[in-house]
Formats: sequence, C-alpha cells, structure tokens
Amino acid sequence: MTLTEGSAYLSSVQDGRDDKEQRHTWDINDNILPKSKQLDDFQEWPDENCRYIYNMDLQESRRHSSGWAMRNTNNHNAMILKKSCLGVLVCSQDCILEDGEKIHMRPAICDKARRKQIGKPCPNPNCSGVLELMSCRGHCGYPVTHFWRHFRSAIYFQAKGTHDHPRPEQKSSAEARRKIRAVKHHWKSGTKTCIEQSSKQSFLNPDPVSSPKKITAGKEICLLL
Ligand SMILES: [Zn+2]
Ligand SMILES: [Zn+2]
Repeated sequence: MTLTEGSAYLSSVQDGRDDKEQRHTWDINDNILPKSKQLDDFQEWPDENCRYIYNMDLQESRRHSSGWAMRNTNNHNAMILKKSCLGVLVCSQDCILEDGEKIHMRPAICDKARRKQIGKPCPNPNCSGVLELMSCRGHCGYPVTHFWRHFRSAIYFQAKGTHDHPRPEQKSSAEARRKIRAVKHHWKSGTKTCIEQSSKQSFLNPDPVSSPKKITAGKEICLLL
C-alpha cells in the first residue's frame, strides 16, 4: 500500500464510509452515468454526501422515498427529481417522554397540513409545550437535498449535505397516527384532503432502451388534521 493509498484508506475509515460507497465516483448531473453490476440495498436514512444505485424494481426507490421528510423542489433539469429536507417537528419545551425519548414528529409534506401541525399542543400529555419546526440547514445553511434519476434501467440517488437535526419518526408510525386522527376527524366534520401541487413537477425518463416516457412524481395526498 503506498502512502497515498494508505491515507485514502484511513480517511475513508475515519469518515465511516465503506468501499461500497467509495466505488461511486459519478455525479447525478453527469451526462452518462456508469453502469453498476452490483446494485445497492435501499438506504432509508442516507446522510452526508452519498450516492447509490438502486434496482428499478425496488419499490422504495421507485417512490423516491426516504426516512427523512423530503419534499419535491423545483429543479432546472427535468431529468432529475430534486427533493429538499423539511427537518423535524420538536417540542418547544424540549420535554422528555416516559421512555426517555424526545418528540421528533414527522413534518407533513403538504404545506397546508404542515402549517397546521406547527403550534399544535405537544403530544406528551404531561407537557404544555407546542410543536415547533426544526428546519434542516445541513447543506451549507440550506436543507439537505436528494436527487433521483432514472437512467438505463437503474435508479441513481445522490444526497448532498448532512442533516443537522434528529430523525423524524418513521413514516409508518406517522401514517398510523394520521389514520386514527382522520377517523376521529371524519366523525366530527367529514374528511378534508389537500393535494400538494409541488408534484406538478415531473421529470423525463432518459432510459434509451424504452421509449421516453414522462414520469410524474406521485401526488402527495395528505389529510388536514
Ligand atoms: Zn413537550
Ligand atoms: Zn434534514
């Protein structure tokens, strides 16, 4: 091992990155993206600058989903879907639950629903605090961004920035709670829904094998709770 290799190896170890990640040297904006024989496992919580290549059949990657609460953002390149992090909802009093955990609620992707979440009473029954949005400033003071691109029968993913806030609760628990509340809400005054228009943004499938087809990011349907 040469001195250069040695220091590169050390820095990769120190950064906590493995060889798998090191093999990705492309950038999502490159005209041609390299083929990879070995596809990556889906990463629910990608963090720091990272890149992955996913199988087109992987449902999570087809949905462009993430553990982080990410919303669609305008991108100058219609071939690449760009998303930015919405941060996490925390308690204004920074209370601690009985299980020792703090409140880390998932911000709604829909703007209107998210505005309604902010200022709501803290879900901890022993706390008089309200929910506050802790924004993400992990990418040079701006929210962390995720990029998704379908290219030659694979899905390329790139993240830029390091989240400077705790992980929001997982989608499944947020959805379960929403459903419970939606039922209650339905009993009271009927269910209201809003459809986020940020999903107007679409991007083209540049896969030359199949005929070019327009991909529309799935419409975010959320309940006003
Ligand atoms: Zn609280
Ligand atoms: Zn973030």
